[in-house]
Amino acid sequence: MPNPKDPKKLQEYKEKQRQNALRQGFGKGRKGKSFEELYGETRAKELKKCCSTASRKAAEFLRQNSMLTEWNKKIGKSKVGKPRPHWKGGVSSLVSLITQSVECEVWREEVLRKYNKRCYLCGSKHRVQVHHLHSLSLLIQEQSITKDNWRQFCGVLFDPENGMVLCYKHHNRNNGISLHSVFGRIGITKEHFLLYERMYQKGLLGE
Ligand SMILES: [Zn+2]
Ligand SMILES: [Zn+2]
Repeated sequence: MPNPKDPKKLQEYKEKQRQNALRQGFGKGRKGKSFEELYGETRAKELKKCCSTASRKAAEFLRQNSMLTEWNKKIGKSKVGKPRPHWKGGVSSLVSLITQSVECEVWREEVLRKYNKRCYLCGSKHRVQVHHLHSLSLLIQEQSITKDNWRQFCGVLFDPENGMVLCYKHHNRNNGISLHSVFGRIGITKEHFLLYERMYQKGLLGE
């Protein structure tokens, strides 16, 4: 990367990057072929639409995520330095407190039963896990939930409608194709899941 203060060099660098990308068939499907060549007009149109929605959603998510990071910093700042008497802990410690509770275990069992202990996407019974569609971090933020009052919010925290069964590969695994490796962990909503489901159905996730 050249000195960004030198506009001419920067321009040259960008042009070189663009040429490289074109040579590698960037912006096209597998093996440098266009989506049309690979899948035909109709399916190509669908795929392109899905890809643009995915990037829009990803940008949206990143915006939300950086907002959340700021908020996390604010709420967790008392972690640094001496603990204060009214210290409430950060969001992640509250999330662990909630997910390790008996109430959460009951909720997990209920959701697992509802989906016959199978991954909603691939139907696998191997290493199935329960996912919060509207993430706990968002619920905590929206409802002002704290470690002292969380039990008053069991209805929203453990709503069976807000649970989804996914196998480890599609939920958590650090493989670049799982829901959390695509969208991250904080600020996930049902929208992300629906988008992920479409990506899966369209074969965009690969194996
Ligand atoms: Zn699966
Ligand atoms: Zn999850």
